[in-house]
Amino acid sequence: MYKSRIRIVDLLKADKYDVPVTVKGWVRTRRGSKSVSFIALNDGSTIKNIQIVADLDKFSDELIKKITTGACISVKGTLVKSPGAGQNVEVQAEQIDILGLCGDDYPMQKKGQSFEYMRKYAHMRLRTNTFGAVFRIRHNMAIAIHKYFHEHGFYYFNTPLITASDAEGAGQMFQVTTLDLKNIKKTPDGSVDYSDDFFATPTNLTVSGQLEGELGATALGAIYTFGPTFRAENSNTPRHLAEFWMIEPEIAFMDKTELMDLEEDFIKYCVKWALDNCKDDLEFLNKMIDHTLIETLQSVISNDFVRLPYTEGIKILEEAVKNGKKFEFPLTGWGMDLSSEHERYLVEEHFGRPVIMTDYPKEIKAFYMKKNADGKTMQGTDVLFPRIGEIIGGSVREEDYGKLVDEIHARGMKESSYEWYLDTRRFGSCPHAGFGLGFERLILFVTGMQNIRDVIPFPRTPGNAAF
Ligand code: ATP
Ligand code: MN
Repeated sequence: MYKSRIRIVDLLKADKYDVPVTVKGWVRTRRGSKSVSFIALNDGSTIKNIQIVADLDKFSDELIKKITTGACISVKGTLVKSPGAGQNVEVQAEQIDILGLCGDDYPMQKKGQSFEYMRKYAHMRLRTNTFGAVFRIRHNMAIAIHKYFHEHGFYYFNTPLITASDAEGAGQMFQVTTLDLKNIKKTPDGSVDYSDDFFATPTNLTVSGQLEGELGATALGAIYTFGPTFRAENSNTPRHLAEFWMIEPEIAFMDKTELMDLEEDFIKYCVKWALDNCKDDLEFLNKMIDHTLIETLQSVISNDFVRLPYTEGIKILEEAVKNGKKFEFPLTGWGMDLSSEHERYLVEEHFGRPVIMTDYPKEIKAFYMKKNADGKTMQGTDVLFPRIGEIIGGSVREEDYGKLVDEIHARGMKESSYEWYLDTRRFGSCPHAGFGLGFERLILFVTGMQNIRDVIPFPRTPGNAAF
């Protein structure tokens, strides 16, 4: 496949020396003396560079001057054992061709630039060591996810991105329309006339594939989605994007205990995959971003997750406040929606391991969750992680038609919008459960990065849709 070159990742594994090779890539640095130049070359296949040794009696000054940080070059030469420290092999250059010069205003040439600065150059930051590592890991996590579900009998099921329903009943959505916004036709009562719109009805980008996923699960037995999700929430936090990727498995005949087992097993599999397959990149991030990264990943796979009813969680938090713990967001007692600060206290300080929180007050959860016999709580199973807070939102689904319709009415939602969804409960309803994992939150955890904008190539956030 790579006839015209050898990838650096493969070159570094070589056990034959004094063979001719061609490598192509981008210059990280060039240093040297009067007689020799050392070029660190990277082609994106690994965090590691190959050292190119260019004897200056073979190359003109003019050529060497063009080999600046960021330039793209092709090198023909001989692979030799390296006498220097820091690398096993290097390439003794015979011929160097400049494929692409790099202007001296290249925005990524300085070391130690802040992530905030680099976000302004999201199209160029991909070439840096950190972003190379992050996106190789992101790829590996996608592979791990597909592999896990395939091996466990789930079918990959694609749900629509454009939808006429609002999955949660309260989502903040992006409207999709072909209407001319400068010239909107109104109905006699003054509202927008959608009869001319593309779908002849108001439509939005999806906030979750779950409801359609349930249709898949109640036909194929077990499915998972893995696709883009859109939320127009104006929350400028380091954990929210307007466009993110979500993984949503949905499983027929699954109860709450099995669901928690699945959440835990799945996420441990992904983390282990990273440790087994992304060693060089993780070591780099461990050194540069978070010295406790690898240790944290290992601790997640070797400890059982805590399983904690919400009511118990509130007691622990109230106890902590009594003992002097200060939270930015005040605890207002049973019924409150926990903020990530509270979640992280439980995970990081109280238990020291991930927590699956269960049985939430129904007022703070979605209409489709299965109600407990107490009439007050619902069978949610969210997974809370160190550094992240909520990484998975899951639940057993209400399979009883009557109870589900009552809940829809109680929340003032329009039953008619959910006809097709309710059909699952009218025609051979079955107990089932599922969850949603935010892909970027998983990547945040696995890479040790601090801001969700730095684990997706081209982030979409309020006021920002560049590139
Ligand atoms: P949060 O309380 O953190 O906003 P949520 O309760 O809105 O999360 P869910 O609707 O349960 O989240 O979505 C399932 C998962 O999707 C979450 O656990 C999280 O990992 C991820 N997620 C939700 N919103 C976003 C977002 N705006 N950007 C990135 N990931 C998100
Ligand atoms: Mn949210």
